[in-house]
Amino acid sequence: MSCKICFKSVRSGQNKVACGVCSALVHTTCAGLNTNDVKIMTENNRIWRCTDCNLERSKSMSDVTPVSNDSSLSLVDVISLLKGMREDQKKMEIDLGNSLEACHADLFIYEKNDKELGGEKVQCQENRENS
Ligand SMILES: [Zn+2]
Ligand SMILES: [Zn+2]
Repeated sequence: MSCKICFKSVRSGQNKVACGVCSALVHTTCAGLNTNDVKIMTENNRIWRCTDCNLERSKSMSDVTPVSNDSSLSLVDVISLLKGMREDQKKMEIDLGNSLEACHADLFIYEKNDKELGGEKVQCQENRENS
């Protein structure tokens, strides 16, 4: 049996997980799992899904219910979800930071324009009064 991800053979001494759907074998390291993940998974009788089966699953799920409301989520799903969320959050923070900066920059320009326009207005009035 060879690992579905790296295609190298899975030896008996190596940490491995079997996909609960297609029963493909994958090295835990290739699956991005640490020994603790595997331990928790085994203790809770959770099945692990390979990327292909996960994709199939999320594809069929995404149309029906939001992922967070799915009570049948396996631990690995939750872990990968959390990992994804953390990355999303990071991305969002960066986006937010960028847009805030853009906002400030815009505000600054508006303020500057206002002042400049205001200054011109005052000048115009002064000129009118003088003439
Ligand atoms: Zn592998
Ligand atoms: Zn599978």
